[in-house]
Amino acid sequence: MADAVEVVIGLEVHVELKTESKIFCACSTRFGSPPNTQVCPICLGHPGTLPVLNLKALELAVRAALALNCKVARYTKFDRKNYFYPDLPKGYQISQYDAPLAEHGWLEFRVDGRMRTARIRRVHLEEDAGKLMHDEVTGETLVDFNRCGVPLIEVVTEPDLRSPREARAFMEELRAVLQYAEVSDCRMQEGSLRCDANISLRPRGATDLGTKAEIKNLNSFRALEKALEYEVARQTRALERGERLVLETRGWDEGRQVTVPLRTKEEAHDYRYFPEPDLVPMTLDPEWVEQIRRSLPELPSQRMARFQAEYGLPAYDAGVIVASRRLADFFEECVRHYPHPKTVSNWVMGQVLGYLNSRGLEPEELNFEPERLAELLRMVDEGVISVSVAREVFEEAVSTGKSPRALVEEKGLEQLSDTGALAAVVRQVIEEHPSPVRDYRRGKVKALGFLMGQVMKKTAGKANPQLARRLLEEALATEREETP
Ligand code: ADP
Ligand code: MG
Ligand code: ZN
Repeated sequence: MADAVEVVIGLEVHVELKTESKIFCACSTRFGSPPNTQVCPICLGHPGTLPVLNLKALELAVRAALALNCKVARYTKFDRKNYFYPDLPKGYQISQYDAPLAEHGWLEFRVDGRMRTARIRRVHLEEDAGKLMHDEVTGETLVDFNRCGVPLIEVVTEPDLRSPREARAFMEELRAVLQYAEVSDCRMQEGSLRCDANISLRPRGATDLGTKAEIKNLNSFRALEKALEYEVARQTRALERGERLVLETRGWDEGRQVTVPLRTKEEAHDYRYFPEPDLVPMTLDPEWVEQIRRSLPELPSQRMARFQAEYGLPAYDAGVIVASRRLADFFEECVRHYPHPKTVSNWVMGQVLGYLNSRGLEPEELNFEPERLAELLRMVDEGVISVSVAREVFEEAVSTGKSPRALVEEKGLEQLSDTGALAAVVRQVIEEHPSPVRDYRRGKVKALGFLMGQVMKKTAGKANPQLARRLLEEALATEREETP
């Protein structure tokens, strides 16, 4: 069955743009302020007020469209999308309908080591709505209008994604591209990146699309993937039973890990779209658009290719590191101070990401200079500390903000590399453990491991292991000659 059926997914992604003020008024877009403190008559939809377009929002939307390889329209306009909902005080959303800002783009992404491409159908500009808050205790619903009028782009893909994993990989790449292009911070936990996923099944080889379900408001990569997996199973079961699927809008129940029906699907005519009469249509100057194109930075896929070519990193490492612009910057800066890319990459993927993940932090929140990591890695090379001590020093340095070298000195973590001192310890161990010494002399090589362990124990793990082993072997060999 699994092979006879093809999964078809298309995404509609909403992205809040990184502007200081809202799209049609001067209110702040800051996240996390007390409810209803960033509102005015315009974003509250009072009668008689007029919207004025924020040029920065338009510029960021064009930037996003170009980063997604879209053709930016010469002529574009706003439309009213009419619907009633308590978080939408105007009774309509200013959006774009039949003359979107940009169309016909594509995005390449990697999934399980293979490259895939999904076409971008359109990118349009619109305003966000407010937020309803349901009070569990009183059962009341409150509304916060701070988010009303925050600029959004909606990115709509063609139905080109073929599995929940692909949908997730696409979203991860989309987030990376938009972060690199500096159009949005894309914080899913704050709702600045969210996604509706459309999914249907069809017999493999068919060209017509099956009946889809649209899952609304997925706000984590995990929720996106899980909700789609659930839908594949649900729709497969229904089709196997010979049921007819209905076109519907569903929601993701995080607690129960199931999708639930919300409503039957609305259609375009339900929204009674018409041109927004309070905003003039726009003709974009191609030279202005080209200027924005030229100002785009190196994007993640280009950077990944460069990391492989310039630093000789494996594709896997390069992919993990460039997924975050901050992490990639950190890596490059560290390599400038400590030119051993693969070692740095191992540390970035192991220690640095491990530290961030264990604390639920984003790379942007890392409070550690790349020079510090370089300093730490040099101490390992110089034999000042062992790799395992370096790992501990890293943890401590990141959480205290102290320099690794200062920490090593302060705590006396330097490796014991003094031959004379270490030889004395070795002699002592040999005297205290005659039986393993005898075993070793009789050819039981494994006894050396035990004796090494004793040397480490006596030096609190600080003995330079290579030196300790050499001194131990020498001492055992000499004594054998002396006491035949
Ligand atoms: P609607 O009018 O219901 O919003 P659209 O045709 O505008 O539908 O498409 C919205 C999104 O759903 C797009 O990303 C598109 O690729 C995707 N999509 C459309 N039809 C299907 C389908 N049958 N199965 C999966 N995805 C679909
Ligand atoms: Mg839709
Ligand atoms: Zn306002």
